[in-house]
Amino acid sequence: MIQAEPSFRESVDLMFNRAVALMDLPPGLEEKIRVCNATYTVRFGVRLRGQVHTFTGYRSVHSEHMEPVKGGIRYAPEVNQDEVEALAALMTYKCALVEAPFGGSKGGLCINPRDFEEHELEQITRRFAYELAKRDLIHPAQNVPAPDMGTGEREMAWIADQYARMNTTDINARACVTGKPPNAGGIAGRVEATGRGVQYALREFFRHPDDVKVAKLKGTLDGKRIIVQGLGNVGYHAAKFLSEEDGALITGIIERDGALFNPKGINVQEVRNWITRHGGVTGFPDATHSAEGAAVLEEECDILIPAALEGVISIENAARIRAPLIIEAANGPITAGADQILREKGTVVIPDLYANAGGVTVSYFEWVKNLSHIRFGRLQRRQEEARHQLVVDELERLDRYLGDAWSMTPDFKQKYLRGADELELVRSGLDDTMRTAYQSMSEMWHSRDDVTDLRTAGFIVAIDRVASSYRAKGI
Ligand code: NAD
Repeated sequence: MIQAEPSFRESVDLMFNRAVALMDLPPGLEEKIRVCNATYTVRFGVRLRGQVHTFTGYRSVHSEHMEPVKGGIRYAPEVNQDEVEALAALMTYKCALVEAPFGGSKGGLCINPRDFEEHELEQITRRFAYELAKRDLIHPAQNVPAPDMGTGEREMAWIADQYARMNTTDINARACVTGKPPNAGGIAGRVEATGRGVQYALREFFRHPDDVKVAKLKGTLDGKRIIVQGLGNVGYHAAKFLSEEDGALITGIIERDGALFNPKGINVQEVRNWITRHGGVTGFPDATHSAEGAAVLEEECDILIPAALEGVISIENAARIRAPLIIEAANGPITAGADQILREKGTVVIPDLYANAGGVTVSYFEWVKNLSHIRFGRLQRRQEEARHQLVVDELERLDRYLGDAWSMTPDFKQKYLRGADELELVRSGLDDTMRTAYQSMSEMWHSRDDVTDLRTAGFIVAIDRVASSYRAKGI
């Protein structure tokens, strides 16, 4: 039993150690994979409101077994080296698990973005990007950031523009960062990608009846009661899609200023609109509000989705968590100590390195799009439609010939004729990735008696792939 709570990085290391103990890695390779290669700390000044403000930022590179390395940039007051290194390590395992050809990295800036005006944030972001880019810590071939907590399309567009200004002849400059807006080299479906990935992950879980049984659940997502923590980018999209498209009921929403609870279900879009207007969930009419938000993590539900920040399920509250299934939409929401408690009580955890990999998967598609300088589907869409037209023409001929005996289903023609656009292709690639990665984890889980949970299974699959890359490099 883990007595004291380890730090976030120690937690990730403990989970890593649990997996490698069941593997047969060559001597020394385990240590090489585990350690973080380098962490760069930068302190820079920006003149704002008549005085110089000094900011501290980090960019950590965990593993360069594949390059570029990839990982988001987070803006939060609590950002620190331990956190950034833990997140960079998770990126290595995440990319390996979903077969995105990247090493792991992560960045962070100690800042509360809500303390600054938009034009001030732009100045700060551009200066941070300059400091990283001049050391190749932002670079299309070496290090490619993306959004994370507190950052989004807007910040990524500033970073891309800053890099382009510093590298005016680099034809691939746009590939230096992902998560950009569509009009600045982004890709359709990136904003929703991580939440969409959580939805696809749960759908795949429910396609495995044996796994569903381990969680003491039955059936499909339809009617399942879900509590979500954090209605930001990831939590909002996951909760919205699961309720609008899969029939799940969002019974609880936990935010900074407390939690909403309604056993009959809460309309996610209405809560999101409420937060935009009022700055928090307090006062939302169609649910009971409790100021002690974190306590709602312990309410009865079928699925718990922590989608805000790390360490929210710890040795302090793990034993009281009643959800039989937890999907880690955030990075590191369950500490190593809590993980052990949950395993012992039979809770099934779909781990972060898989559950939130939708973001990096679609980032990979965006990077490929930027390097190929063409939108997905541009070449083949109309050709695909023309071929489908041939089939429809033949079916219409048959329809006329058979008269009343047979006719085409009314919307078949319209649905079948339409060639896939970029968004559909991105969703299809994401769905395929999430399904395949789940299958590799689940297979590992069930094929060995000593692998008793999905997290260990995911780590083994990922570490094995990283080890193969190192071996291929002669390390
Ligand atoms: P975000 O900033 O868009 O949203 C975070 C949300 O959590 C906000 O609504 C915030 O108000 C809420 N929150 C903050 N502190 C809280 C608290 N104590 N209790 C309840 N709610 C709180 O961030 P995001 O991009 O959605 O990221 C959330 C998590 O998902 C992070 O762990 C991040 O690392 C992870 N993640 C994000 C992406 C991505 O593509 N954005 C990809 C992979 C993983």
